Amino acid sequence: MKILVYGETVEWLKQARSISEILDGELYGVISSRELSNQATRIFDKTYVFEGVKYEPNTYHKIIQEVSQKIKPDLTIFPSTIKGRTLAGLYAGHLSQPVITDVIDVKRDDQTLEMSRLVYGGGCIAKIRLTLPVTACIIQGAFKPSDKQVNGEVEYLTSIGKELIWTEFKKREYEGIPLDKADIVVAAGRGFKKKEDLEIVKELSTILNGAWSVTRPLAADYGWSDTWIGISGVIINPKIYIAVGISGQPLHMIAVRNSKTIIAVNKDPNAPIFSEADYGVIGDLYQILPRLLEKLRKK
Ligand SMILES: Cc1cc2nc3c(=O)[nH]c(=O)nc-3n(C[C@H](O)[C@H](O)[C@H](O)COP(=O)(O)OP(=O)(O)OC[C@H]3O[C@@H](n4cnc5c(N)ncnc54)[C@H](O)[C@@H]3O)c2cc1C
Repeated sequence: MKILVYGETVEWLKQARSISEILDGELYGVISSRELSNQATRIFDKTYVFEGVKYEPNTYHKIIQEVSQKIKPDLTIFPSTIKGRTLAGLYAGHLSQPVITDVIDVKRDDQTLEMSRLVYGGGCIAKIRLTLPVTACIIQGAFKPSDKQVNGEVEYLTSIGKELIWTEFKKREYEGIPLDKADIVVAAGRGFKKKEDLEIVKELSTILNGAWSVTRPLAADYGWSDTWIGISGVIINPKIYIAVGISGQPLHMIAVRNSKTIIAVNKDPNAPIFSEADYGVIGDLYQILPRLLEKLRKK
């Protein structure tokens, strides 16, 4: 079994050695510093060193990918840190491999691996059986560092990483008033059946001289908007927030609680949003919004 490790500290590299001993595998390492290479060559059977490349997730994962193409590892491991998880996600996604995070134990059984990982904030352990190849993020400290020393090879990757990718940062362009600056925000939720229906929300926000957006599923899953309101999106603090066809889940509501007045339109009288709204309209948005617009247009 071939195991590829990305690492930045000796302690972690030695823990990776322990994993390779449990799995009886050959250990390959990819590291981003020449300083670490002396110790790494005593830990890995082969070490690939790249240096002078500024950390940027896309660039680093491409470099690890290039090493992976040379080795074709059965298991690739990263530390379960923010950086490790970011790289693992990009790497495994590119190879269409499963990626298991927060792993605390591994066992091998022919062509399958059993991994134990922490779930529910560490309250439980899930055991997952996987066919190879697979990528995993290991919680540092879960494995005792191995002191076994080898006489490994080293290869310096001098041209690798150059011209693989470039990153361009573009300022987000808003139509109209930016969401976080608007006095009035109108937002649409899954009560809307199709993208074209959002025109009613856009028109309402224009008439009210405000901004519009949606809940996360409409933006992230359906692609109906570039922005969404919520903990993982934009946090707003308008004078008036009008939530239409939105149930009022905590991950959305946490970002709208600074609104001075919340008005909700929902056909379900038991929708959680009504417990936080100052004004509520129980009814079908497809009947209520056109009538509201009709009145506002006249004004
Ligand atoms: C890691 C993570 C991060 C997340 N971050 C966010 C975030 O930042 N922002 C966010 O919004 N969500 C976020 N979510 C998703 C969140 O948990 C909810 O799933 C989401 O907010 C629900 O969106 P919704 O209210 O549009 O849909 P639903 O919960 O499906 O509610 C739709 C509502 O529309 C009503 N409705 C249906 N038809 C009509 C009609 N004709 N007229 C009137 N009402 C109608 C229904 O009664 C229902 O209450 C996140 C989830 C995860 C896992």
